[in-house]
Amino acid sequence: MADKKNLVIIGSGPAGHTAAIYAARADLAPFMFEGYMKGGSAGGQLTTTTEVENYPGFPEGIDGPELMQLFRKQAARFGTEMVMEDVEEVDFSKRPFRIRSSEREVLADAVIIATGATARRMGVPSEEKMWNNGMSACAVCDGALPMFRNQPLMVIGGGDTAVEEASYLTKFATTVYLVHRRDELRASKIMQERALKNPKIEIIWDTVFEDALGEDYVTGARLKNIKTGETREVDVAGIFYAIGHTPNTDVFAGQIDLDPTGYIIVQPGTQQTSVEGVFAAGDVHDHKYRQAVTAAGTGCAAALEAERWLQEQ
Ligand SMILES: Cc1cc2nc3c(=O)[nH]c(=O)nc-3n(C[C@H](O)[C@H](O)[C@H](O)COP(=O)(O)OP(=O)(O)OC[C@H]3O[C@@H](n4cnc5c(N)ncnc54)[C@H](O)[C@@H]3O)c2cc1C
Repeated sequence: MADKKNLVIIGSGPAGHTAAIYAARADLAPFMFEGYMKGGSAGGQLTTTTEVENYPGFPEGIDGPELMQLFRKQAARFGTEMVMEDVEEVDFSKRPFRIRSSEREVLADAVIIATGATARRMGVPSEEKMWNNGMSACAVCDGALPMFRNQPLMVIGGGDTAVEEASYLTKFATTVYLVHRRDELRASKIMQERALKNPKIEIIWDTVFEDALGEDYVTGARLKNIKTGETREVDVAGIFYAIGHTPNTDVFAGQIDLDPTGYIIVQPGTQQTSVEGVFAAGDVHDHKYRQAVTAAGTGCAAALEAERWLQEQ
């Protein structure tokens, strides 16, 4: 017989743990699937970074994994039950909802989905070695670090995010190269104008990024023009991917409404998904801000909404 819980939280990043802290303090005895292999790992995306300088409350910055240990400790302190397992299947067609991992099946009156999103990578040869050593997928997170200041930097991509990241990086960089595989940007007209007008942004058209250069840290990039076949090396201290994110929603497909790119759709101004009693929080429904503090904020909101909804039932 499957265990029955008031509230199941799926995911243990800033959104999931914040939801757990609020729900546990409201005596909901939340049960959390922390995740294991799917969509990152327990603790979420911040466990893959070093210094987090923009999470409020830590004026000197804090190591990403350490910050997530603190989140976890706080959720555990108020009685959140946690298992380091991936959810493999859900049935939201009737209540109580059914959630299955490889180890167990749990029934829940309410669910909060906080499974995050994964930044797409290109898989170039030196990527593993250079990740966090000059390569990143988040300009807002890492652009202000001392290693990138007053240096030439590079952004790979051609959509709105790429232009936004390039514009943001011009605050710190001497030059920002925007490398795009086509001869026109995919970004909206207004964003294109912004990029073309910015004297610090140099667009490199018809070009693909082949690999990062450097021993321990990025010192340059090897590029290839896809029209001429010519390769060249450009000196840069940082390379930022802006080629999109994949929300971790494959197990929810067909159960709740997702947008065409796979993000969970919530009702405007709420954390409510298309299924009553199922809420979403964090990067899994947010392709705009994608920050730890916004994920934590929506985690709080989801827990408060779940609590009220459970009370009404
Ligand atoms: C390298 C890097 C550096 C960053 N630096 C910063 C920074 O400095 N400041 C900042 O504010 N933001 C930063 N970010 C962004 C920040 O990490 C995210 O915005 C934030 O982690 C989103 O939180 P979340 O809880 O929504 O999801 P995530 O942190 O992505 O957590 C998702 C959780 O869901 C779990 N999960 C996924 N699928 C399943 C499943 N099927 N079953 C069970 N569990 C599952 C995962 O294991 C994980 O625990 C950075 C991101 C990266 C990648």
